[in-house]
Amino acid sequence: MTDAKPTVLPARQAELAAGLAQVQARISDACAVAGRARSEVTMVAVTKTYPASDVLALTGLGVTEVGENRDQEAAGKAAEVAAAGATPRWHFIGQLQRNKCRSVVGYADVVQSVDSARLARALAAAAVAVRDRPLDVLIQVSIDGDPARGGVLPGSADPDAGLHPVAEAAARADGLRLAGLMAVAPLDWEPERAFARLAEVAREFRAAHPEAVVLSAGMSGDLETAIGYGATHVRVGSALLGMRSTLR
Ligand SMILES: *Cc1c(COP(=O)(O)O)cnc(C)c1O
Repeated sequence: MTDAKPTVLPARQAELAAGLAQVQARISDACAVAGRARSEVTMVAVTKTYPASDVLALTGLGVTEVGENRDQEAAGKAAEVAAAGATPRWHFIGQLQRNKCRSVVGYADVVQSVDSARLARALAAAAVAVRDRPLDVLIQVSIDGDPARGGVLPGSADPDAGLHPVAEAAARADGLRLAGLMAVAPLDWEPERAFARLAEVAREFRAAHPEAVVLSAGMSGDLETAIGYGATHVRVGSALLGMRSTLR
């Protein structure tokens, strides 16, 4: 860890400003097409693989929500950003092992990727121990029913794989606030079909959990479709920061 405040080169600053303007315009247009207010959709800037200096540039441009998918990378980055005086809300969006919960709840305000009752309980215990206010959690839903990619199954009653039992575990746990659902469109599905299916799942879910209104869906390639189907949060990485060199 260095004491030096991370600096942003002017060229990078300009690149990020241009990317942000483009993504903001896409979100505004998609809201207009869907007949939704722009204020209904929040952009989470997914900064994985990019340095703390990029996060600081983005917060300087008005970005308030940042997403990361690996604790090992995010913990240090969050500390650097905090040391530089910026206070974005950190969303954890990746697969999470229970032994990382204590670390994650120390900097994250939202964990979007809860996919088992075991993980919900581990997060709750960590949140009670480490935090002075509840941790927002989203239940990650598998749209195509393939559990290999993570996400719970909407129709299942399995306590560690079914949407309703996992949501109940999160809703009951001290230290957690069940805020809604998250999903990633399967690679081999049309976004239209994926987000239509997700909207159906979300509608049923809200009948049981009316306060849990967050729907995190849509990324760089499919955010318009997700907004058309009710996404309240889009998670945007490459369209904002550039293509990542690694596939994650
Ligand atoms: C990396 C990632 C994103 C952002 O993807 P882009 O296609 O770069 O916008 C969104 N959600 C999750 C869960 C991710 O891991």
